Amino acid sequence: MKSEKYIPGIYNYCDRWCEKCQLAHRCKLYADEQEQLKNVNSQDDFIEIVAKSLSKTIELLYTIAEEKGIDLDAIETDEELEKERQTKFEEATQHPLFLSAEEYSNKASQWLKEKDYFEKEKAELIHLIEIGVDVEKHKKSIQIIDEALSIINWYQFQISVKLSTSIRFFPHDAEFEDEIQNMHHAAAKIALIGIENSMKAWQSLLEMLNEENEDFILNLLLQLERLKRNILTQFPLVNQFKRPGFDERKSIQ
Ligand code: SF4
Repeated sequence: MKSEKYIPGIYNYCDRWCEKCQLAHRCKLYADEQEQLKNVNSQDDFIEIVAKSLSKTIELLYTIAEEKGIDLDAIETDEELEKERQTKFEEATQHPLFLSAEEYSNKASQWLKEKDYFEKEKAELIHLIEIGVDVEKHKKSIQIIDEALSIINWYQFQISVKLSTSIRFFPHDAEFEDEIQNMHHAAAKIALIGIENSMKAWQSLLEMLNEENEDFILNLLLQLERLKRNILTQFPLVNQFKRPGFDERKSIQ
């Protein structure tokens, strides 16, 4: 049987890092955006493209709602539901998982900003390369620093945002959602992926640090490991959630 070129809805289950995505060729959203970007000439064109893709998303929402027998307009005017949504949102921002993720991102960004450690380290490495000392080794170190920092920066704030979504949509609505394939598992799984990737990135930087900074990073790693365990406790079925295209064989331990 011929497989579909695009995996339906794959963009709802990813970390939105298209540049690094191994399934970009199977993603309709990515294909559409690339097509539109080819024609961008000015800031005005860009704003128009963003507006078009927003209206496409709204159209898609209406189609899904119609299929599920939900009247989106009725929902918008329902004050009780709006209040409930607001309460859930506020509760989510007080939830221990969210607070722990926020604490991690604040600590990490503050440390990166204040210490400026890796910029200094890179300047030193560049100097060594310029004078011909261990050129390949030092080029590799710069590559590791750049890669690790881009990973840390990418997920730093996404983890808490995804956790807030998973908390708000927990428990699932049994009338409309599956026990496993549901919104809170989708968001929690992306948060877990962010944690795993961030931990690997911090680990790769550890050996370049002096003792004082090493302790700080080890504490961040401990915090991420605790957060991961707490997510798995809060959402014990999360590993059974399969992200279309991405998770055919993988699960996070
Ligand atoms: S599936 Fe990949 S290409 Fe598509 S939006 Fe997500 S990260 Fe980007």
